[in-house]
Amino acid sequence: MSSAFDAIIVGLGAMGSAAACHLAKRAKKVIGLDRFAPPHSLGSSHGKTRIIREAYFEHPLYVPLIQRAYELWAELESESGDKLFRQTGGLMMGRPDSAVVAGARRSAEEHRLKHEILSAHNVRLRFPALNPIDEMIAVWEPRAGILFPERCVEAHLASARRRGAELHFEEPVLRWQRDGEGVRVFTNRDEYRAGQLLLTTGSWITSFVSELRLPLTVERQIQFWFEPKNPARFQPDRCPIHIWEHEPGKYFYGFPDLGEGVKVAGHHEGKTVDPESIDRVVAPDEVEGMRAIVRRFLPDADGPLRSAIVCMYTNTPDGHFVIDRHPAHPQVLIASACSGHGFKFSSVIGEVLAELLVEGETQFDLDLFRARFD
Ligand SMILES: Cc1cc2nc3c(=O)[nH]c(=O)nc-3n(C[C@H](O)[C@H](O)[C@H](O)COP(=O)(O)OP(=O)(O)OC[C@H]3O[C@@H](n4cnc5c(N)ncnc54)[C@H](O)[C@@H]3O)c2cc1C
Repeated sequence: MSSAFDAIIVGLGAMGSAAACHLAKRAKKVIGLDRFAPPHSLGSSHGKTRIIREAYFEHPLYVPLIQRAYELWAELESESGDKLFRQTGGLMMGRPDSAVVAGARRSAEEHRLKHEILSAHNVRLRFPALNPIDEMIAVWEPRAGILFPERCVEAHLASARRRGAELHFEEPVLRWQRDGEGVRVFTNRDEYRAGQLLLTTGSWITSFVSELRLPLTVERQIQFWFEPKNPARFQPDRCPIHIWEHEPGKYFYGFPDLGEGVKVAGHHEGKTVDPESIDRVVAPDEVEGMRAIVRRFLPDADGPLRSAIVCMYTNTPDGHFVIDRHPAHPQVLIASACSGHGFKFSSVIGEVLAELLVEGETQFDLDLFRARFD
């Protein structure tokens, strides 16, 4: 058995890599274990780009978190020397009473964020790649942009490693058990002891805490890249990130062309899957479904499909995250189920997790992410 650690992290994707970095910054003796070799494309943190935005339509409580996340991404970018973030501005579009528009407006107003409300006509004039219908409006926010997820995970891991964290890849954790006040973790290679355990296994989380019967579902999602027919319109200085509620309760989003085509994807409406047996092949009817939306709202992106890749959301019923201690084992912290919108927060969630593990508290209000165990 290996010697004892302050904390063991299981899962080194977006959340686990950030937590490893922040625990190592606090000079904790930490070991991180992953069944694959992150950054990899078998979980939830791949596909080259992720949206970051501040006027958070899901709930205004996310705004202080995202503001700290921006600061931490900037720090990580300068530490790593790699480009992790590109600002493009962002448009949240839909009918005025849609969740996307009304929610973004509420967050912007409550937190006095810089924003503008644009008519469909003004969106078409300013951003000719985008073709909203007349009934839609947009909330424009200038700070939104793009994170490069694989580079972000890599940067967090490199920072953790530089500060002494032990990181083991291709070492699946088979099970864990309470060990007095601490924990014991068993992998295919070894056995480890620590004072605390952090479970950040994304779509695989339920198998680690099956006794909690967390009401989570894993959803198959596809990211598509189409060749633009009019590339100039999709350059990042002319095309911001954009999120649409194109019909009530139906969402898609897109990015400018960063050289690999125009990336678009639906948000939800995917099949419920088991992460062990998910179908990673994209079917022609799935491409056609996405293309129909592209044709309507981004007509200049309706060129040949360049590529498509499958990814996984881990959803809670209310769409908020799970960040909480195990109710029966307080030395076990769970951070997962980011319901398809967690990446942008991973820098600050990593810091929050380190605070909870080391100081036992954080300044952030985590109420939205608690109390799902009863
Ligand atoms: C298509 C798509 C688009 C998205 N777009 C956005 C966006 O634009 N903006 C945004 O903010 N968020 C977005 N998200 C959500 C965001 O990417 C996720 O919330 C986030 O990446 C989840 O991170 P995670 O650390 O929970 O999971 P992961 O990064 O998947 O990490 C889990 C890790 O646990 C490891 N693991 C699992 N089982 C074991 C085991 N037995 N032993 C050891 N390790 C194990 C896995 O190998 C994996 O590395 C998107 C998600 C998808 C799928």
